[in-house]
Amino acid sequence: MSQSAQTASEHAPRALTTLTDEESLFRQSVREFAEQQIRPLAAEMDEKGKFSADLINQFFDLGLMGIGIPEEYGGQGGSFFNSILAVEELSRVDASAGVIVDVQNTLVNNAVLLWASEEQKRRYFPRLASDTVGAYALSEAGSGSDAFGLATKAEERGDSYVLNGRKLWITNGAEAGLFIVFANISPEKGYRGITAFLVERDFPGFTVGKKEDKLGIRASSTCELILEDCVVGKENVLGEVGKGYKIAIETLNEGRIGIGSQMVGLSQGALEYGVNYTKERQQFGQPVARFQGVQFQIAQVATELEAARLMVYNAARLKDAGENYVMQAAMAKLFSSQVAEHVTSQVVELYGGYGYTKDYPAEKYYRDAKIGKIYEGTSNMQLQTIAKLILGNV
Ligand SMILES: Cc1cc2nc3c(=O)[nH]c(=O)nc-3n(C[C@H](O)[C@H](O)[C@H](O)COP(=O)(O)OP(=O)(O)OC[C@H]3O[C@@H](n4cnc5c(N)ncnc54)[C@H](O)[C@@H]3O)c2cc1C
Repeated sequence: MSQSAQTASEHAPRALTTLTDEESLFRQSVREFAEQQIRPLAAEMDEKGKFSADLINQFFDLGLMGIGIPEEYGGQGGSFFNSILAVEELSRVDASAGVIVDVQNTLVNNAVLLWASEEQKRRYFPRLASDTVGAYALSEAGSGSDAFGLATKAEERGDSYVLNGRKLWITNGAEAGLFIVFANISPEKGYRGITAFLVERDFPGFTVGKKEDKLGIRASSTCELILEDCVVGKENVLGEVGKGYKIAIETLNEGRIGIGSQMVGLSQGALEYGVNYTKERQQFGQPVARFQGVQFQIAQVATELEAARLMVYNAARLKDAGENYVMQAAMAKLFSSQVAEHVTSQVVELYGGYGYTKDYPAEKYYRDAKIGKIYEGTSNMQLQTIAKLILGNV
C-alpha cells in the first residue's frame, strides 16, 4: 500500500455499526440487564398496563436515567449515541422500558442540559440521575401536530407564574417527579409567547389525571396533567421567557432519533423470535425455515431493519459530532417506524395462528410498533420537515 493510501485508510470513517470498546461494553451490559431483569416481566407488565417500580429503580442504579448528564452533576457523562444504544437494547426486550429511558434522556435531560441555568442544573440533575423520573409535556387535547397552538396559559404574578390548562398524552406521567411543561405567557404573540417551565409533582395546583389504556407500549404510562392555578416560581422558567418553542423544536429533533432507536430495537427483538420459531416449527416434515418462501420473507425484513439501524446510528453520530442532523433524524424516525410496522407484522405471520395469540410474544411487538408513526411528530409531520428542508419555502 502506498504511503498516501495508508494515511487515507487510517483516517477513513469507520462503519456506522462499528462500536468503540466503551460503546460495546455498555451495550452488552444493557443487553444482559434487559434479558435478565426485564424479559421475565415484560408480558405481565403489558397485561397489567403498569411498569415495575423496582425496574425503574434499577434503571437509576445502572445509570440509565442519566446517561448524558455530566459527571459533575452525578450523571454518566455519556454520549447521545450511548442513549441511543440503551434505548435500542431495552426496546429489543420491551418497548415500554425503551421509551421510559428514552424520554428521560433524549427529551428531559437533554432540554435541561441545553437550556437550564447553572443553578437549575445543580438543583435538578443530581435528582434526575438518581431517583426522579422526568416527563415532557407539550401536547394537549386540542394541539398535537399543531403543538404551538397550545392553550395552557401562564400568567405573571410577582415572583411567580400561575399556570392553567391541561396536557394530554404525557409519557412517564404516572411516575415522574419533574415535568417540563410548555405554556403560553402571551397568547396574543402566538408561538412567541410559549415558555417552558420546570414543574415538580408536588407544586400546588398540579395534578396528574387519567392514565390512558392503550393498544401498545401499555406498561409505559401516558397521562393527562391538570394545572389549576399552579404556582411556579420564576426561578423555574427553563431557558428564556417566550423561547419555549425553540426548546420544543430542538429537543424533539433529537428525541426523534431516540424513537427511531426504539423502533430498531423492537424490530430486532421481534425478528429474533421469528427466526428462532421458524427453525423449530415443523410443517411438511421439516422446519418451516427450510422453505425458500420463508427464508426470503426473513431476508427482506432483515434488510429493511439494517437500513433503519444505519439511519438511526448516522443521525445519532451526526448529533454527537456537532453536525446538522435535523433531516436525518426525521428520516430515521419516519423510516424506522415504517420498518418496525412491517417487520413485526411479518413476524406475526411467521408464527402462523400462534402469532395472533397472547401465548407468544409476536403480537406484543406488533402492537408496540404502532406508536412509532404517531408520537414525537406523526409520519406526516416528519415528511413535512424533510420536504421543507429539501424544497425550502415554495
Ligand atoms: C402513547 C403516546 C405517548 C405520547 N407521549 C407524549 C409526551 O410524552 N409528551 C407530549 O407532549 N406528547 C406526547 N404524545 C402526543 C403525541 O406527540 C401526539 O399524539 C402527536 O403529535 C399527534 O398529535 P394528535 O394526537 O393531536 O394528532 P393530530 O395532530 O390531530 O393528527 C391527526 C392526523 O392528522 C394528520 N395531520 C395533522 N396535521 C397535518 C398536516 N399539517 N399535514 C398533514 N397531516 C396532518 C396527522 O398526521 C394524523 O394522521 C404522546 C402520544 C401517545 C399516543
